[in-house]
Amino acid sequence: MKVELQNLTKVFPSRHVKGEEVVAVNNFTFTIPDGKLVGLLGPSGCGKSTTLYMICGLQKPSGGKIFFGEDDVTLLPPENRGVGLVFQNYALYPHMTVKQNIMFPLQNLKGADKLTKEQMLERAYECAKIVQIDELMDRKPSELSGGQQQRVAIARALVKMPRVLLLDEPLSNLDARLRLQTREEIKRIQKETNITTVFVTHDQEEAMSISDMIVVMKLGIIQQIGKPQDVYNSPANLFVAKFLGTPPINVFSGKIKDGKVIIGEEAVLDVPGVEDQEVHIGIRPEGFILKDDGPFSCKMENVEVMGRDVSVVATNPASQNPIIRAIIDADSPIDQEAETVRFAIKKNKIFLFNKETEERIYTGTEKGAKQKEVK
Ligand code: ADP
Ligand code: MG
Repeated sequence: MKVELQNLTKVFPSRHVKGEEVVAVNNFTFTIPDGKLVGLLGPSGCGKSTTLYMICGLQKPSGGKIFFGEDDVTLLPPENRGVGLVFQNYALYPHMTVKQNIMFPLQNLKGADKLTKEQMLERAYECAKIVQIDELMDRKPSELSGGQQQRVAIARALVKMPRVLLLDEPLSNLDARLRLQTREEIKRIQKETNITTVFVTHDQEEAMSISDMIVVMKLGIIQQIGKPQDVYNSPANLFVAKFLGTPPINVFSGKIKDGKVIIGEEAVLDVPGVEDQEVHIGIRPEGFILKDDGPFSCKMENVEVMGRDVSVVATNPASQNPIIRAIIDADSPIDQEAETVRFAIKKNKIFLFNKETEERIYTGTEKGAKQKEVK
C-alpha cells in the first residue's frame, strides 16, 4: 500500500507560551512507496510522532491530505484505516498472556470481519511465528525480556493484517545489544510481510541501517529525503551532514579563494569555478588520507585503535569540533610521536556549505548531486 502525504501540516497551541503556536509538521509532501520501510529521522521535537499519528489517524491534520493508495484517508478514524501501531513502551496488557495480548485486537472485529475463536488463535500463532515468540504464548508480559515484549507488541500490531505498519521509536527501551538484534528482526519481518512501514527514530545509525528511504527532519521541516547512503554521501545542508554519521563529520571554518578550499593558511583542495566566499567545510572521518606531503596539516594528539578502525585524533585551530577524527587505513605507517600529521583529502568526502544559510554549495563534480537536493 502506497502512502502519500500532500502538504501535511499540524499546528498546536504552544505548551509553553500562551497564545503562541507551534508548527509541529510544516507542509510535508512525500510518497512512501508500496512495501518499503521509510525512516523518519530527526532530533526530539522535530515532528516525527505527530507525522506518524496523523498517518495513523490519532491526530487530525491542520492542513493537507493523506492517501493510502488512491483512497483519501485524511478524515478516516484510525480503526478504519487498516494500520498497526507500535509504541516505544510496548503497552501490553499486564494481566493477559502473550496469546491473549496478540488476539485482543481481533476480538472487536464486527460483521463480515468477525472471526471464530479458532480463526483468532490461528492468526495469533501465525503472527507469533513471524516474530518468533510462538514458544512463549502462555507467559505474562512480566515473564518476558524487553525485546520479547516488543515482539509481542509487533505481533499484536500485525494480527489485523494492517495495510501500513507504524513504529514510534520501538527500540528506545532496549539495551544496546537487544536494540541491534531487534532492529535486524524488524527489517526481516518487514521484508517477509512486505507491509509498507514507517519507522520513527532519533537514532541516525538505526534509521540508516534499517530504512529503504530516510526523511531527515528538523523543527517540523523536511531537510532531505533519499536512500540512506545517498543522503550520507551527499547531504543537502550542514544540519544533515552533522546529523548523519558516527564518528561525526569534522567541520571547519574556512573559505573559497581563487578556486581553492582554504583552511587556515592551507589550500587543501581545488574547486575550480566556485565563487570566493566564506564557508563551513565538512570532511567525513574516512575522507582523510595520511600523506607526508599532504596539503592539510593538523596537530597530532593520539592514535586510537578500535577493532578494525584506526583513528588519528588531531586538532586544528579552524576546527569547529573540539577534536578531529580521521579514520585511516589500518596498514598505513604512522608516527605517533610526530607533532604534526599531514593529510590529503578525498574529493567525494568533503562538502562545502554557505556560511550563513548552511546550505550545500555544489562544486559541479558531484554525480547527480543537484537532483537529490530537496526543495
Ligand atoms: P518528535 O516525535 O520528533 O520528538 P513531536 O511530534 O512529538 O516530536 O512534537 C513536535 C512538536 O510539537 C514539539 O515542539 C512538541 O512540543 C509539539 N507538540 C506535540 N504534541 C503536542 C500537543 N499535543 N500540544 C502541543 N504541542 C505539541
Ligand atoms: Mg516522538
